Amino acid sequence: SGGPQTCNNTEALLKEHQALNGKAIRTRFPPEPNGYLHLGHAKSMNMNFSLAFERLEGAGVTCKRETVFRYDDTNPEAETKEFIESLATDVQWMGWTPVVTTHTSDYFPVFYAMALELIDKGKAYVCHQSSSEIEACRSVAKARVALKAMQDPPAELVAEAKLHEPSAHESPYRNRSVAENHALFEKMRNGTTAEGECTLRLKMYEEGGSNFNMFDQVAYRVKHRAHPHAGDAWCMYPTYDYTHCIVDALEHVDYSICTLEFETRRESYYWVLDALDLYRPKVFEMSRLNVSHVVLSKRKLTKLVDTGKVRGWDDPRMPTISGLRRRGYSPAAVNAFCRDVGVTRNENFIEYSRLQHFARQDLEERADRRMAVREPLKVTLVGDASLFRTYDAPNHPTDASRGTRPLTLTKVVYIEASDFREVDSKDFYGLALNKWARLRYCVCLKCISVEKDGITCEISDKVEKDPRGKLHWVSSDAMQCELRDYDHLFTVGKVDDEKWESQLSETSLVVRDKALVERLERPSDGTAFQFERLGFYAVDPDATTDRLVFNLTVPLKSGAPV
Ligand code: ATP
Ligand code: MG
Ligand code: MG
Repeated sequence: SGGPQTCNNTEALLKEHQALNGKAIRTRFPPEPNGYLHLGHAKSMNMNFSLAFERLEGAGVTCKRETVFRYDDTNPEAETKEFIESLATDVQWMGWTPVVTTHTSDYFPVFYAMALELIDKGKAYVCHQSSSEIEACRSVAKARVALKAMQDPPAELVAEAKLHEPSAHESPYRNRSVAENHALFEKMRNGTTAEGECTLRLKMYEEGGSNFNMFDQVAYRVKHRAHPHAGDAWCMYPTYDYTHCIVDALEHVDYSICTLEFETRRESYYWVLDALDLYRPKVFEMSRLNVSHVVLSKRKLTKLVDTGKVRGWDDPRMPTISGLRRRGYSPAAVNAFCRDVGVTRNENFIEYSRLQHFARQDLEERADRRMAVREPLKVTLVGDASLFRTYDAPNHPTDASRGTRPLTLTKVVYIEASDFREVDSKDFYGLALNKWARLRYCVCLKCISVEKDGITCEISDKVEKDPRGKLHWVSSDAMQCELRDYDHLFTVGKVDDEKWESQLSETSLVVRDKALVERLERPSDGTAFQFERLGFYAVDPDATTDRLVFNLTVPLKSGAPV
């Protein structure tokens, strides 16, 4: 649904479109390479590579699915090669295969030729107004529109409308001749115009119009700098507004799906296409995804990286695809989350716990079980010598086909410090003086004395009643490792748009650098384990053969402390 569609193509344009696309339906995913992809992009990809087609198929349309992956790269100062590469990596990792990969910048010569055509048609002009002068004119135009709707307007509004100056709402350069516009545009192109001196604007505003996205949009601005993809061929660059619709048309996209804030730009989108007699794709809007306890704006994410508040774009606390990957989320979990969130036009504020739910569901099946100890307490064991042997532990509690691994009970083992208290209490399942507990998959133990650097326990395999406490533990051949335990990046669910930096959590990363894990061959980066009773962890690329490093992907239970 949404606002009115204006895709009434001429018969000739439609024929050409159908001849080109055949039985395929085309969508496009057009990120700007000015940052890394994040959860919002995951939602958009899910829509453009999958859901959009499913909806059509659900309505009985059979079609070949085609999604264009387009770098929307018109701002050289914000875009880099690193971002360009990361986008391709992340699209692929998420499991999506574009029919073709394109760059808006590949069409720079086409946009240029079309700009000349618009100048010829009297639909574009070179404007020497500064951005504040343009803003002032826009305010006058807005005031005039507001005035019309009022019986008894306030004096300030009348003053703002500058009724004594009939053309105060217009750029004084708006009615330049075609020849003068050509000459000035040529100067912009050949590098003899300074940055900020002038722009090429589209003559789209009609006096009285109430959509101020139609206020003679800027189509070109001068920037004396090279482009990460197009090189140094240009010193003026076209804008998003001018180019996006043109590329959608040239790539014969059927559905151009964007977020709701672009709804008021439909009118200008079609104005440009009409002015150039181009094919008109159908535009649809969906709500932006917002997730609690994170931010999904590239401006804010960039600031977190640039100010060192996180370790980089792929910091496991970041809501970026690369952060989620490093954290241990699988594409399947992220896509399941996106599907569950669905596509609507309603405001979309989703609890982070919903994402964690899908991660748990996926890891529950996928991850082998192991034991690790966050804060080790040394336990010296005494008792029947025959009990110091090897025990088998299952790799997965419900999937026997995944086999077992041997655990060796050694004279010294380590348990979690928080699983021991000298003084027992009713609600405590752990070990205490003279109280029995069980080492998982192994013997029972009872604390008989407490020393400065640990405790001593008696062991037995014949206790009357199986103790309630089943503790995770590691033997003395365990490996030192680092556990990186994460909590929410922000202390509040609804992060404030202004005060967001003061809402960053100080405890979003807790490094446990004295942790121990049962002996493992060096697992490859990203391998997932469930460390029993602690959570799901994934191997971090900082790991070495001697020292493993794990990221907490998600705790075992929702709401569990980290
Ligand atoms: P940002 O404000 O983070 O810069 P953007 O929309 O400018 O976001 P792009 O890289 O240009 O980022 O977006 C590429 C595509 O992904 C667009 O179609 C955009 O609508 C979509 N997209 C970006 N963020 C979200 C989001 N939070 N929810 C849904 N779709 C999103
Ligand atoms: Mg964008
Ligand atoms: Mg943006």
